[in-house]
Amino acid sequence: MQTAVQAFRDHLAPIIDLRSAAAVLGWDQETYMPPGAVEARAAQLGTLGKLAHELFIADETAALLEMAQKEVEGMEYDSDEASLVRVARRDLEKATKLPSDLVEELARATSMAQQAWQEARAKADFGLFRPHLDRLLDLSLRKAGALGYEDHIYDALLDEYEPGMTKSELESVFDGLKSELVPIARAIAAVGNEAHLFLGSNYDAQSQWDFGVAIMRDFGFDFDRGRQDRSAHPFTTTFSINDVRVTTRIHDDFLPAGLFGSLHECGHALYEQGVSAGLERTLLADGASLGVHESQSRLWEILVGRSREFWAHYYEPLQDRFPDHLGGVDREQFYRAINKVEASLIRVESDEVTYNLHIMMRFDLEIDLLEERLAVADLPQAWNAKSEEYLGLVPGNDAEGVLQDIHWSLAAFGYFPTYALGNLMSVQFFDRAREEIPDLHGQIGRGEFGDLLRWLRDRIHRHGRKLTAGELLERTVGSELSAGPWLAHIRHKYSDLLGVGFR
Ligand code: ZN
Repeated sequence: MQTAVQAFRDHLAPIIDLRSAAAVLGWDQETYMPPGAVEARAAQLGTLGKLAHELFIADETAALLEMAQKEVEGMEYDSDEASLVRVARRDLEKATKLPSDLVEELARATSMAQQAWQEARAKADFGLFRPHLDRLLDLSLRKAGALGYEDHIYDALLDEYEPGMTKSELESVFDGLKSELVPIARAIAAVGNEAHLFLGSNYDAQSQWDFGVAIMRDFGFDFDRGRQDRSAHPFTTTFSINDVRVTTRIHDDFLPAGLFGSLHECGHALYEQGVSAGLERTLLADGASLGVHESQSRLWEILVGRSREFWAHYYEPLQDRFPDHLGGVDREQFYRAINKVEASLIRVESDEVTYNLHIMMRFDLEIDLLEERLAVADLPQAWNAKSEEYLGLVPGNDAEGVLQDIHWSLAAFGYFPTYALGNLMSVQFFDRAREEIPDLHGQIGRGEFGDLLRWLRDRIHRHGRKLTAGELLERTVGSELSAGPWLAHIRHKYSDLLGVGFR
């Protein structure tokens, strides 16, 4: 006889299929779709999204969930069955709280806002985007109200991306981070660091691509269960544990963009490829949270890919590929160049030291908007003031200021903090990996990543969504989220690199 859990799983499987099919269409839209297909594709995605949503919130789902719930009582917390029921209940509660007219309204408003945002950014004219953002803020306030929260309205939205995280928890981490990080960034700026001119100019695109792919293979990306393509904005998307897609962009005149973009997305993809096979075609086959996801991409991109050990192994092969550019640049110069720290206006181009400052200023502004203490009309001035406060720089126009990121045009309030959480968690996880793999630095210096990947698979990847970020940290690191290890990493790396002491 079929068990209730199996029946529930069978009921959810076609919903996962619809979502995966939508992801294929979304991936295609960003990679190969001709521009004329925009409207047709929006309709197709709308239909698939609506079908998946309706199937999910159907009475049958709740009925099957109740039966499955009885069956998993007494089962291990981590078992596939108990975890599926627990996570499905959380998802279903949220999905049913949102009135469908609000869901539809948000979908329509964001698709219009994205167009307006693109035009506004191209013309550096916030006025073109302003009415759309007003509307999205209004809808987001309604959404947060529908979802509900205990403490602060921000919690309802943050929970979409980082389940269980709250504004007050974030504030206590960010406050400590800010007071330590701002002086460190200033001290580094005062020392100044080398220009990276030799990173510019006419790097052959195919050679860049091949070099990145070779490292992805070494990291353990399985090209039989995934592929890489080009897109304007790099991303990773998953259609199955056995089909994970990454994209990258190659700049002929800036080597780090494509190279570290590939390593970053590869980190996301290794997570997805590492989810336990038994979770295929279930709600559990995904990352624990966006913060944990970002911890994996930043671990491979920065803690491995921008380390001195890593380039002990890979610099010669890179020089061999680009002798005209790098033949006369020694390894230490290269290492310094790819770790140059300089406050800049654009988040996606920022270095690992100043990156979190970009996130904290956005967090402050989102809180002010959601508390309705800041009007959308006053956002550009507020942005510029925050930019001055955190980065010491004031944007010359709205395109390099308030309009630079796509997130608000998607009504994704509460998303930005996950980038900083990922940075902090990456070091917490990596420190523990180093303790448990004593030769890790030696291995990285020989281009060997098997032990590291196996460790990450065992502690993080295989669980998929079974455990929350907090649970993963507790079990793996034995502590809560903390900025301390990340700050220690920054102090250690840059005092060595620049010969300056930090207090
Ligand atoms: Zn990422």
